Amino acid sequence: AASAGQNNAVLSCLKRGSKVGLFYAHSPMLTAAMELPAGKFLKSTALPQPLAAIQPEAGLLPGSRAFRQQSGAFLAVQNRGRLKTTAWWMDSAGRNTRWPAILEADNGFWFTHVFLNQDRENAFCTLLAQMERFLPGLSRAAAATALNRARFAYHNHGRTAGPAAAALEQAEKAYRQQLFGPSREAAESCLSLLRDADIPRTPPRQNEVRAVWSRSTSGLPGQDWFQTARTLAANGGNALFPNMINAWPEEQVLQKQLPACLAAARDNGLALHLWFSCLGVADLPPAKRKWFAENNLLQINDSGVAIPWLCPTRPYNRQLLASIAAKVAKAYPIAGLHLDLIRYPGSQSCFCPECRKAFEKYLGRSVHGFPGMVLPGNPYSSPWQEFRCRQITSLVQEIARAARTARPGILLSAAVYPDWQSARSSVGQDWVNWQKQLLLDFVCPMNYRATASLFAGDLARQKQQLGHLNALLPGIGVSSERLSKDELARQIQCCRNAGAMGFILFEYTPREACDLLPGLLQK
Ligand SMILES: [Zn+2]
Repeated sequence: AASAGQNNAVLSCLKRGSKVGLFYAHSPMLTAAMELPAGKFLKSTALPQPLAAIQPEAGLLPGSRAFRQQSGAFLAVQNRGRLKTTAWWMDSAGRNTRWPAILEADNGFWFTHVFLNQDRENAFCTLLAQMERFLPGLSRAAAATALNRARFAYHNHGRTAGPAAAALEQAEKAYRQQLFGPSREAAESCLSLLRDADIPRTPPRQNEVRAVWSRSTSGLPGQDWFQTARTLAANGGNALFPNMINAWPEEQVLQKQLPACLAAARDNGLALHLWFSCLGVADLPPAKRKWFAENNLLQINDSGVAIPWLCPTRPYNRQLLASIAAKVAKAYPIAGLHLDLIRYPGSQSCFCPECRKAFEKYLGRSVHGFPGMVLPGNPYSSPWQEFRCRQITSLVQEIARAARTARPGILLSAAVYPDWQSARSSVGQDWVNWQKQLLLDFVCPMNYRATASLFAGDLARQKQQLGHLNALLPGIGVSSERLSKDELARQIQCCRNAGAMGFILFEYTPREACDLLPGLLQK
């Protein structure tokens, strides 16, 4: 949504002859200026099949391609003649819904939903082709830009790289022949090969863990758990971490989704590690959050306000989390229990009376001027930091003990902040010491990085802190960083080079299942 000022700026551009690309809903002023018809908000679930892709109209957009976009909703527009429909919404059965996805006016185009960027290269080609209708020569400019980047990278690389040289030559040749799409793709491929050339190749270790986090409790959209698990196994995955429990697990999940997921994992040879959101309760239904608030179980921040995080000092909360761990470990044949949100939300909590009392006991004296005296730069800030780490560490210990008593041999793990030092000071997560005391079987630092060199830097630091990476399952931010398939392959290679036990991808969505994993992982 644009502000009034932004809309006015766009309007004045239109008046001066500029072209505009609109996405989804927009102001009535722009609608009038571009003479667009009204659109009706429609949920994908209202259609016979959900939306799956966008298909360009044949012959209108040279160089365009169908691309995947699984929108949950869109603006349904009846195109009665004056505008051109340049692309259509397709459903999951591959049928044209006859709803326009892109409409073209004289002074711009209208994309009837937010662009989701689920299928980068194909979508790029189509949006480029659409914009080229108004800006002739755009694909030549895109090719020239990619070619210049490839030339620069190639000549800066120092070492000669055979396949990269061939790709660059191909890009040059296609450009001379005015084949701008193929030239751009060859240039991109040259850049990718040059990035690969910097990373040595190590084969996967035996028993490499190839895992995914899944935030969905019911599998991939449009698939049940069996199909979801089968696709993952077929793509070389061997472990699944579904987010199914929290401080107040839902009966529906415990009775239906978890058993279905377990059976699917078993039938497809996947290890199931149950992802347990521990202290953070923001995602709980309001009534349950209210219950925790009314019972004074939430953390208090520096303004004295309760926040949606359980206070780790309250005995009730500690027993609650340990008893949930014991209950699920006893009732379900899970391979592992994976702790998440096992930390403070930041440095500004918890300042509840119970925490103050416990801190004074830890310190051996009373503290006047709480919480001011424990804040950074004040006399008690360093013991306060240590106290917070101890609260979390002992909670990890209690949960792990409860789970292991209920199911001997169960693997305990936790998702942790990648930088141990700042994890200690900012969120009380002292995970290197957890590992030194063997509290958990392994940890998953969320090393979400856009490039392999930054990712390898995280692993090098973690290896130095831990001594080895045999109990470290690095998290790769494939969704959060929108990694390309090439970049994902490089980060997996970094895990192998560093001797990590495997890797875990955040997170498993249709993009990972359909576009990135096929052909990527060695069985
Ligand atoms: Zn507290």
